[in-house]
Amino acid sequence: MTHNDSIAPMLAEADAFLARDLAVVWHPCTQMKEHRGELPLIPIRRGRGAWLEAMDGRRYVDGISSWWTNLFGHAHPAIAAAIGAQAAELEHVIYAGFAHEPGLRLAERLAALAPQGLSRVFYGENGSAAIEIALKMSFHSHQNRGEGQRTRFIALQNGYHGETIGALAVSDIPLFRRVYAPLLMEPIFAPSPDAFMAKAGESAEDCALRAAQSLAALLQEHGPHVAALILEPLVQCAGGMRMHHPAYVREARRLCDAHGVHLIADEIAVGFGRTGTLFACEQAGITPDFLCLSKGLTSGSLPLSAVLTNESVYAAFWDDDRTRGFLHSHSYTGNPIACAAANATLDLFAATDVLGNNRALSARMRERAARFATHPHVGDVRQTGMILALELVEDRNTREAFNDHPRRRALAAYRAGLDSGAVLRPLGNVLYWMPPYCIGSEELDVLEQATANAIEAYVQCA
Ligand SMILES: *Cc1c(COP(=O)(O)O)cnc(C)c1O
Repeated sequence: MTHNDSIAPMLAEADAFLARDLAVVWHPCTQMKEHRGELPLIPIRRGRGAWLEAMDGRRYVDGISSWWTNLFGHAHPAIAAAIGAQAAELEHVIYAGFAHEPGLRLAERLAALAPQGLSRVFYGENGSAAIEIALKMSFHSHQNRGEGQRTRFIALQNGYHGETIGALAVSDIPLFRRVYAPLLMEPIFAPSPDAFMAKAGESAEDCALRAAQSLAALLQEHGPHVAALILEPLVQCAGGMRMHHPAYVREARRLCDAHGVHLIADEIAVGFGRTGTLFACEQAGITPDFLCLSKGLTSGSLPLSAVLTNESVYAAFWDDDRTRGFLHSHSYTGNPIACAAANATLDLFAATDVLGNNRALSARMRERAARFATHPHVGDVRQTGMILALELVEDRNTREAFNDHPRRRALAAYRAGLDSGAVLRPLGNVLYWMPPYCIGSEELDVLEQATANAIEAYVQCA
């Protein structure tokens, strides 16, 4: 892009903004020192549909839905209107001892949409809070039933459930977990059903069933001491968009039932149509004991999470003794504005055939990605609904990743994406598309070309 005189004032404004920002703001999931050097921090002025508009006048296709939160595009008028209307009526009220229409309406609708049997809704403020709530509720409900020995959790290798101490403990991403390990409870990690790890001649389903056998053995050994199994159904997103066959989730449900263990489905990233069904668990035909939702719940507009559970868990807390209740809260639990944004999101699901549109859209994504399948440095192209991922490798036969300068390569790919007008934020050697559902063919053109450029940058980088 050539910078002419007419945009010089915008560049000056962006530069001044950056200097102020770097003087005071500490950004998440970031080595801040990189922003002093090769990694640009990009001030965004506004969002429209699938596009983000930067202060310097450049535009970017949001290929990752702003950390997987956005469903229907940025600054969606219907969601913005619902937020404004609710803010003018009741912005917040303590949710202990008080109730409100948007919270009730959302709970009724979520219970009606979720897999059969999830009829109780508890609100949190973000995804990690939802995980903490599910873990505590599971443990506490066993405790209230006289099964206080159930103090352990089983989590999957390569899984991710958030950054707070409890959620991080059941996560298995070394980059995030390792340094805090001395502070964390120790779950029992079960092998991931990840189809990328399939042995020669093994189908995705075989691979899932093999992992389920390992889970069976762990439950055989530890079952009476386990409160819950926690997993991300169908796609381990932060773990590199690794995907598995629904047979694993079905088997996990069966095994948990056999051992009196709860199943916690973390659909914070995969819920609300991402995988092709409204909830990923539907593809396994199961109901978890806890369904954790956040991210897309408000279509990326406001922080909110919900934990859905069943009457049996709820009944374990129903008592004359106050201390047997679930005494967990966050100040903004059930925030009415966030609930209104979620209701507006569900209105959009009700008004249009979102899942049908996504089927067509995911087919278009698959066509766009087909050209990469034969690339000498693409070891795998995989897709589940509106998530498509490319595994960048040194050698497509062994599918070994480049092991020199992995960080510099990922950064080069990220920068090449930005230079081509798209936000692609590689997870290590995995490039992926997880766009808003409103993405059109013009935006897909940009994503496709940006991906081609990002792959070249990744491969050429030394
Ligand atoms: C993002 C995510 C979380 C954590 O949600 P936050 O709102 O970032 O705390 C938990 N689980 C999964 C699967 C996620 O993708």
